[in-house]
Amino acid sequence: MALIPLASARRRVLAQCQPLRARAVPLEEALGCVTSVELRADADVPPFPNTAVDGFAVRTADVRHVPVRLPVVGTIAAGAPPEPPVGPGEAVRILTGAPMPEGADAVVMIEDTDAWDGRSGREAVGTAGVTSVEIRKVVGAGDNVRGAGDDIRAGQVVFEPGTVLGPGHLGVLASLGMRRVPVHPRARVGVLSTGDELVDGPEELRPGQIRDSNRRMLLGLLADSNAEPVDLGLARDDAGVVRDALTSGLDRCDAVLTSGGVSVGDFDFVKIVLDDLADGAMQWMQIAIRPAKPFAFGTVGGKPVFGLPGNPVSSMVSFELLARPALRSMMGHTRPDRPQVIAVADEPLRRRPDGKLHLVRVQADWSDDDGRFHIRSSGGQASHLLRAMALANALALLPDGDGVAAGEEVRVMLLSWGR
Ligand code: AMP
Ligand code: MG
Repeated sequence: MALIPLASARRRVLAQCQPLRARAVPLEEALGCVTSVELRADADVPPFPNTAVDGFAVRTADVRHVPVRLPVVGTIAAGAPPEPPVGPGEAVRILTGAPMPEGADAVVMIEDTDAWDGRSGREAVGTAGVTSVEIRKVVGAGDNVRGAGDDIRAGQVVFEPGTVLGPGHLGVLASLGMRRVPVHPRARVGVLSTGDELVDGPEELRPGQIRDSNRRMLLGLLADSNAEPVDLGLARDDAGVVRDALTSGLDRCDAVLTSGGVSVGDFDFVKIVLDDLADGAMQWMQIAIRPAKPFAFGTVGGKPVFGLPGNPVSSMVSFELLARPALRSMMGHTRPDRPQVIAVADEPLRRRPDGKLHLVRVQADWSDDDGRFHIRSSGGQASHLLRAMALANALALLPDGDGVAAGEEVRVMLLSWGR
């Protein structure tokens, strides 16, 4: 079978993964989701003019010449109504976030005043008993006042469609009193392991058996991608078992990942079942990459099925390069791929020409010394060495050729950064 370039495999897959139908989800479930419509404000934020500092609300006309002493006619705390008003020649003690009273057009910071205690006639400590204040600094109209609508004006577009909702966005929507937000929902994605050699959990291994690592890994990758992982368990190499697991998974999920059974020499159970379920529209690909050459993709009843290779590293790389971007576009992401940067290889990354793009597991670090990313191999590069993959936070993309020497530049895909 001819090898196809990664870019064409990716295109084929993405072409068949449409964004999931949008729906309104509660704000507390929307983190990481992508907005499906333009969101408009129905009110000003802040809703009223308020003070940015602790101090005294004044009329600027009264503080043109300083120092000046003004009687303090009241106190306004955050959450209190904007009273009392400030008459000519008066001041009101005011605390950060409190509404500006009638009459006042600026606030003098507490640090620029001396407040006087009416009973003792001495400088006041704290807020109680303040009857007059000496203003030591001139303020202009609007100084230290936050205007209504400074952050957001009623009627304005707050976020465009396609916005990825981070914590800050959720804070903004909460500031507008929104309870639900229209987004593309998280994709529910089933994960099925296949293979007679696989064992789940700590039970003793019989000769020839290994433990299932891919399922835990793929479920974790899904959670990390803001999808909703669904564990479909472990299926023996038996057409009936694989078929039952897949059909029940497809019933419950928006997409399914299988691992194992997609390479050329495999027993054909996954192939037979998927070909049958997908009505012959499954694409069995050999991609010009290493690791993760074998890959299968198709849709069953419009739901994408990703046939990932069984070797754990291949499975993970395949997920990163093909399944993750596809699932992210289903969840509304317009830029579904991991970021790429140019890094400096701190050691030689050698390879042989073989017509493939090599994805080398590396640790990437940012260096303050030269303001660049630097990479080193995270360990052995064979496709069964999951530990070296787990220790990698990036994949170096080595184009066909002999690799790079120490000190040379290489393109790197960042997998986890700042975790
Ligand atoms: P396969 O693609 O099914 O031929 O599997 C390729 C290699 O990956 C074999 O060595 C399998 O034992 C191994 N493998 C398959 N599935 C898993 C899994 N879920 N966890 C760990 N290794 C696996
Ligand atoms: Mg197998």
